[in-house]
Amino acid sequence: MRLILLGPPGSGKGTQANLLQDKFSIPKISTGDILRAAVEDDTELGKQAKKFMDKGELVPDEVVIGLIKERIVEPDCEAGFILDGFPRTIVQAEKLGETLEAMGQDIDSVLDLEVDRGELLVRLTGRRTCKNCGAMFHRTSHPPKVEEICDECGGELYQRPDDNEETIVKRLEVYSKETAPLKEFYQKQGKLKTIQGRGGMDAIFSQLCKMVS
Ligand code: AMP
Repeated sequence: MRLILLGPPGSGKGTQANLLQDKFSIPKISTGDILRAAVEDDTELGKQAKKFMDKGELVPDEVVIGLIKERIVEPDCEAGFILDGFPRTIVQAEKLGETLEAMGQDIDSVLDLEVDRGELLVRLTGRRTCKNCGAMFHRTSHPPKVEEICDECGGELYQRPDDNEETIVKRLEVYSKETAPLKEFYQKQGKLKTIQGRGGMDAIFSQLCKMVS
């Protein structure tokens, strides 16, 4: 099963991708996670990407397309994968389509999580992520049992540097301009499935599961 999770920053793509990965035993591939790891390791890629990420802008298409092309040929992707945060532009979607076609593969479904802007701002400014296992929390709506400590693994929680109000506004703008057109792109291919991303994480997850099975 090959899935794409579409939706603005804060719509819950990462959380749902984590749940889907456990249920279907296929890897979640998040370009954001790959880029953040490169920034953390201070690699050449990380140095280049950081300039864009800090401003809430997109990293150039050729960079992220290269990352995805390398990742989806790994053996753990044979039975499928869940793309979280890729594609984000029409060019990325076209290149992904060409790459998969050359491999005799295709995307099965594109799951679009819709959340209104006010809610996104609340979610993003309160978001906390585990440095160790990637589990996600929220300061008010899903707080950890012990402040700043992950319930799952005891790791340290952190706030992403791009989850500040100025950068969030920019990221939402970039989403509307560059990424939202992908809805029509995949609608035309008959792959788009839209879910209202309000309500609890478990309720949304069960809707997603129904849509893909
Ligand atoms: P995310 O964790 O998906 O919100 O991504 C964090 C940041 O990484 C984005 O704001 C972009 O700067 C960069 N990024 C992640 N995925 C992509 C992508 N597919 N295309 C371009 N930039 C990306």
